[in-house]
Order: sequence, then structure tokens, then C-alpha cells
Amino acid sequence: MNPIYLDNNATTAVAPEVREEMLPYLGELYGNPSSMHTFGGQLYRKIEEARAKVAKLIGAEPEEVIFTSCGTESDNTAIMSAIESYPHKRHFVTTRVEHPAVLNFGKHLARKGYRVTFLPVDTLGRLDMDAFIKAIDDDTAVVSVMYANNETGVIFPIREMGEILKERNILFHTDAVQAGGKIPINVKELPVDMLSLSGHKLHAPKGVGVLYVRKGTRFYPYIIGGHQERGRRAGTENVASLIAMGKACELAGKNLLREEEYVRKLRDKLETALLQCCQDARVNGDTEHRLPNTTNISFEYVEGEAILLRLDEYNICASSGSACTSGSLEPSHVLRTMGVPFTAIHGSIRFSLSRYNNEAEIDRVIEILPLIIKELRTISPFARQKIVRPK
Ligand code: PLP
Repeated sequence: MNPIYLDNNATTAVAPEVREEMLPYLGELYGNPSSMHTFGGQLYRKIEEARAKVAKLIGAEPEEVIFTSCGTESDNTAIMSAIESYPHKRHFVTTRVEHPAVLNFGKHLARKGYRVTFLPVDTLGRLDMDAFIKAIDDDTAVVSVMYANNETGVIFPIREMGEILKERNILFHTDAVQAGGKIPINVKELPVDMLSLSGHKLHAPKGVGVLYVRKGTRFYPYIIGGHQERGRRAGTENVASLIAMGKACELAGKNLLREEEYVRKLRDKLETALLQCCQDARVNGDTEHRLPNTTNISFEYVEGEAILLRLDEYNICASSGSACTSGSLEPSHVLRTMGVPFTAIHGSIRFSLSRYNNEAEIDRVIEILPLIIKELRTISPFARQKIVRPK
């Protein structure tokens, strides 16, 4: 039986059209795009077609698109390129709520002796713009701020930040891994120098990413070797996955507004019903500026892991915090930074939807989850504490 999959910020199903498009390149069309012969060389043209499709999704020029192996590589490359390109600048600015792909790279730079500023967010997960303006200076090599948060879906003021940074002549990278294909992005109108995408978040397979680099931006390759990607990312191309990424971006672009609306309606139905049916439930994050597919709900006085295990018995997939932190039982760094109370962090569940979800699935979750919460609260030590606590 197929699961009710509400964990699309962790990864997405490969779209059938995408799978079909890539299959020949895992079979009979196995050549090397760098070869002189037609058998291999014809693949070069296919990669360029895929590049053009990716570029179209974000309003870029094809030559501004570099294929990488994943979102993490794109993020690392962007930051490292800026650091290498401006060696006299020793300051990096990011936020405390980034994905580890940026957060841990910032910590790595700090260990190397760079000055690193991790910007705070408020209780709704919104960036502190005053702290941002105070943080940047002439020593800042690059600012990297995510377009949308993977745990809460909160969207950051990338345009406003970009305008300030452009005036100050400071490079700006945004990790748009969670935003790509879910909301419109147009780099023609967005003042960013670099932007990351990841295939497996938008119905392409795992193992392919994209780094957009605006024409004229100083760039220093992170992976050095052959001439692939015009010398900006060496290594023989993952042909099938690059072609898949092109197809996935084409599909996302074609249906973006319709799917955004469809997914938002399902998400809102789920959220509204759960808040109504479950006592002591609250949404984490700014609901005004949020991805259409994500809701992060805290069910106080129950353990998120216990909820996930019980949902799993019904073949319902969700996540407590990001997929990278679940399993470690470490409370989410995003919710902690937002100042979400301890009991609410531990009972937080992220539901993230996609175009492949439907109303019947949402109805099933609405039917089952309140019962699970009720049942868990009867055995939860936190819940008992709540009952005995004097008014
Ligand atoms: N950035 C964000 C915001 C993410 O959510 C993720 C993955 O969850 C990544 C970067 C890393 O992408 P990848 O898994 O392709 O390395």
C-alpha cells in the first residue's frame, strides 16, 4: 500500500514523466558527453536542453546555471567561491536557522578563523532586519540566507536584503532548495548573486543540484578538475539526473501557480482541522509568509517521535523537525532559535505536502491524528504534569 506521504520537505517522489525522461540515459544512451563521437557527444546537447529548462524556471540565462550533485554542494560552492574570490574579506553572515548545509559550513569557517555572524530570528521565525543591517560591513565577503525554511516553511525577505547588499556591493547567496518549484522565483527581478536548488525536493531524483551564478559574479570552482560545466564544476556529468532535473523544472514551471493553490488548500484544511480537533496545538512560524506546502504544528505535552511512530503504524509519513535532525532526538535548532517552549518543541510535527497528495489522504490524517494525540496524552508524563499543575 502506498504511504500517505506528508514529508515532501525531506524528499519527493520522482515524477513519472521525469523517470521516463531519464531512463534511456541509464540504459542504451550511456555515452560520455565530452566524447568526440556522436554516441557520447549527442548527450552534451541533451544536457544543454536540461540547463535551459532549469534556467527558465528561475528566469535565468542557461549559462548562469551550474549543475552540481546536490543542494549541499551548491550551498558550499557558493559560499566558498565568494570567500576565495575576495580573500581580503574575512566575514561571513548567515542565520541561526539555516539547513546544516550552510549552518555547519559557517561553523567550519569560524573554526578556520573567519568572523561569522549567525543572525537571530523572532518567535515567528522572521529574520531580524536590524541585526542584519548592523552585521554587514566592508569586511563581509558574502551573506547566505535561505529563501524559505525547511522546518517551518517561513519565507525570508530576500528581495529587501538583496537590495541592501547590492548597494553595499556585498555578494548575496540564497539557499532556495525548499522554495524552488513551490513558489515563483525570478532572478531577473531578485537581487541575488547566487541561488541553490536541489533535484530531490522538486520531483527529480536525489543526487542532482543546481547553483545559479549571476553573469559577472566572481566565481571560484569548489570541485577542480576537468572542463565540465565550463570549468566551474569538474567531474563527468550525472547525465540521467541532469536530464531529469531539466524535466522536473519544466513540469514545476508549467503547473506552478495551479499546484501552489492546490497544495495550499490541502495544507490549510489539514492545519485548520488539527488545530480545531487537538487541544494545546499551535502552528510554529509566520503563517503570513510561508511556503504553501508546509505546516509545523506543536502538540504540547506529547513526544513528536511517539506521534511519528503511531502515524507510521497507519502508513502516514511526516517528520519531527528536519529529516537531518530526527533520529538524534536533538531538539530542532530552528524552533529553539525561535524560542518555542520546550514542551512544544518536543511535540512538533512537520507536515509537508506535494502535488501528489489528495483530499482523501488529508481526511484520513484528520481522522486518525487527533485520536493518536488523545491516546498519547493519557500516557504522557508531560500531560500528567499539566493535569496536576495548580492554576
Ligand atoms: N538546504 C535546505 C533548505 C534543505 O532543506 C536541504 C535538504 O533538506 C538542503 C539544503 C540540502 O539539500 P541536499 O539534500 O540536496 O543536499
